[in-house]
Amino acid sequence: MSSRTAPAAVFLDLDGCLVDSTAAITTCLNHALTEVGLAPRAVEDLVRFIGPPLPEGIGTLLAEADADAGLVPTCVDAYRARYPVVSLEQTVVIPGIPAALERLGSAAPLAVVTSKPGPFARPILEGLGLIDRFVALHAPEVDLTAEPKAVTLRRALDDVADGQDPAATVMVGDRSHDMAAGRACGTATVGVTWGAGDRQELVGAGADRVVDAPQDLPGAVYDPRSGPLAR
Ligand SMILES: [Mg+2]
Repeated sequence: MSSRTAPAAVFLDLDGCLVDSTAAITTCLNHALTEVGLAPRAVEDLVRFIGPPLPEGIGTLLAEADADAGLVPTCVDAYRARYPVVSLEQTVVIPGIPAALERLGSAAPLAVVTSKPGPFARPILEGLGLIDRFVALHAPEVDLTAEPKAVTLRRALDDVADGQDPAATVMVGDRSHDMAAGRACGTATVGVTWGAGDRQELVGAGADRVVDAPQDLPGAVYDPRSGPLAR
């Protein structure tokens, strides 16, 4: 990769992009449901809640069960009480990601931009040995308010790429809200299909490029043959 034309910064989503959190998140969602007397759901039916802010997902699950929306805080608390332990036991690095991060990191500063609150996200990155790959981790506080991902990404831009054109940076993620955040902030966007979102979702949300395997990610962010990805 040429440093002359490489991105000014690359922002990467966590769940479904760098790590597979399916087991940890679905286990804790079902724990939250059963804590308020609701039936657990099939794992396949919970995958769609991986990525978006937790209070939104819990709200949708309660509505689908015709349960009281006032139970959201109780469910979120139950989830968050269990998650710190379960996430360290059940979250795994997606194969091929460490090598992709090494190539990407040789070209540009990398930062994690996630909707998972920082006190939960950081121990996962530390436990999996990934934290040193990144110059920064940007995440919401632990709060009941669902911070839009564009707000988190804007903070990351100010921190990591302050004063540079957002179009010279790239947002990488597996869901529509990652692509939407990138577009809202003016970054280039790369969608990855090994997480919870499929190609149709990512293209529909405005992904500039979509990749199907981690080894293709560095080339999608910056291809020496076709030049830097730019909006
Ligand atoms: Mg994700």
